[in-house]
Amino acid sequence: MANTATHTVEQTLSIIKPDAVGQNQIGNIIEYFEREGLCIAAAKMLHLSETQAKAFYAVHKDRPFYKELVEFMMSGPVLVMVLEGEDAIARNRQIMGATDPSKADAGTIRGDFATSIDRNAIHGSDSAKTAKEEIAFFFQPNEIFTRQ
Ligand code: ATP
Ligand code: MG
Repeated sequence: MANTATHTVEQTLSIIKPDAVGQNQIGNIIEYFEREGLCIAAAKMLHLSETQAKAFYAVHKDRPFYKELVEFMMSGPVLVMVLEGEDAIARNRQIMGATDPSKADAGTIRGDFATSIDRNAIHGSDSAKTAKEEIAFFFQPNEIFTRQ
């Protein structure tokens, strides 16, 4: 019988942002997930349109940094991924580190790769609800390969 303990296998959305893709860090960043036991269940490279970038970050549309955030996310290709594993949503946020890289611990992705709060290398879903919505924003169900 499978172990039915307290942890749940989850899926979450991750985006390697244009700064990190442009610095040729895709492989180095994916290693942070895989060495913590998160699997890549889906991945694709995209160059977001203005419509996509605005819609993806619509939750921030009234914030002063929205326009710059949208422009940055459209500034080059991104790698969009579904990560899967036990407690993947919270664990991905831990692996990413704080939004502001000056507050992110060394050894987190943002601590090691981000250069500023608005060029911070990586996006990750922040709840079960946003994970579901954000995965559906980029992937059809038949593009996701459950690994666990
Ligand atoms: P993300 O959603 O990209 O994973 P996050 O969840 O850590 O990041 P949010 O509060 O959702 O942080 O902000 C979304 C993005 O907006 C941040 O990643 C950052 O690039 C940008 N951002 C947030 N706060 C600021 C700020 N005060 N000044 C400039 N940019 C900001
Ligand atoms: Mg966020």
